[in-house]
Amino acid sequence: MFDSAKKEITRRGFMTKLGGGLVAANLAGVFLKDAAAEVRVPDPPGKKLGYAIVGLGNLAIWQILPAIAKCEKSKVVALVSGHPDKANKIALRYGVDPKNIYNYENYDTIKDNPEVDVIYVVLPNSMHAEYTIRGFKAGKHVFCEKPMATSVADCQAMIDAGNKAGKKLMIGYRCRYEPYNQAMIEMARSQKLGPVKIIQTDAGFNIADPTQWRLNKAMAGGGSLMDIGIYALQACRYLSGEEPTEVNAMEYTTPNDPRFKEVEESINFQLRFPSGVLANATSSYGCEYRSHFRVLATKGYFELDPAMSYTALRMRVYDGHELSEPNISPRDHFLSELEHFSQCVMEDKQPLTPGEEGLRDMKILMAIYEAARTGKTIKLA
Ligand code: NAD
Repeated sequence: MFDSAKKEITRRGFMTKLGGGLVAANLAGVFLKDAAAEVRVPDPPGKKLGYAIVGLGNLAIWQILPAIAKCEKSKVVALVSGHPDKANKIALRYGVDPKNIYNYENYDTIKDNPEVDVIYVVLPNSMHAEYTIRGFKAGKHVFCEKPMATSVADCQAMIDAGNKAGKKLMIGYRCRYEPYNQAMIEMARSQKLGPVKIIQTDAGFNIADPTQWRLNKAMAGGGSLMDIGIYALQACRYLSGEEPTEVNAMEYTTPNDPRFKEVEESINFQLRFPSGVLANATSSYGCEYRSHFRVLATKGYFELDPAMSYTALRMRVYDGHELSEPNISPRDHFLSELEHFSQCVMEDKQPLTPGEEGLRDMKILMAIYEAARTGKTIKLA
């Protein structure tokens, strides 16, 4: 007989002998509590987690809010902004109750709002750590945009805060949740074109407005590498399926370009992986838009171009004889990652890109800067 059935019979017999009344009611309570602990009850269909969007800038307005409106498991219930007019307008458009509009000063009172399950941090990079940690202190789960923070210490503090609060942390590495990058990973792992030898990843665009926070070292943590080179680095890691052991790098910044008073314009880096795979990656704020990931294997190559745009990704496969384009149905990157995180929270599972993934990248980003600064090969632990 199963243990739970045995327990049930023993308790029933015990209660009958005592003759019911108060004692029986108390024991029934204990029994129900035990039963509840044993039986996992799934969330009812249609349940959505409530998100508070912190920072109403370009990404939040043009990508995240429209995506979340289409989600099955996620909905926007609160906004955090320093601009009440903007917040009110967005609240009206997305059906957010005006009482759920916060500013950066009263943000911590979000802890008293049971409608909010998840904080989504979409602020400049240097603010990610503070608003993530305050989010955890408010007892919420946190979804944080990339790059996770601007230092290794801040990444670790964010992970520690999540662990202390017993809440989940996910970093918004959207390419991991969309089908073209997933097809590239599958192709690499399948070795259909033989073992992978070389990975080439490029990320670049011509940055405008010299006054924006992305060109401010304190707010961005660095230049093109922190903003878009991180995609090139991520791709090297997920396409190889390995962690790099060594890094070389070179950087260049056009003298007297008013955009680059504080941060680097371009940085190229090379990674060595344990299996012998080598990667070349480029990151630039000074070139025409470019996002391209290519994997060279022994019998051909496969590539994405563009590789990290929000839409219209293209994959090509060359098998040594002919070039083909796999038929892949696109998916909204933001919708996919939000739904993944909500599902992880609902089912108490670890997300695919937790804080530890952001921390790993941050350690490598710092090694790339060190390699560029010193001209030396940096070994990674
Ligand atoms: P943005 O400048 O458009 O928005 C930033 C928001 O932060 C604005 O609403 C601004 O008012 C607010 N803010 C609060 N305090 C501020 C301060 N002291 N200085 C400047 N702004 C302040 O930036 P964005 O493009 O929306 O980027 C936000 C975050 O999202 C960044 O971390 C960025 O790396 C990330 N991002 C990710 C993707 C992606 O594809 N996953 C794309 C773009 C941006």
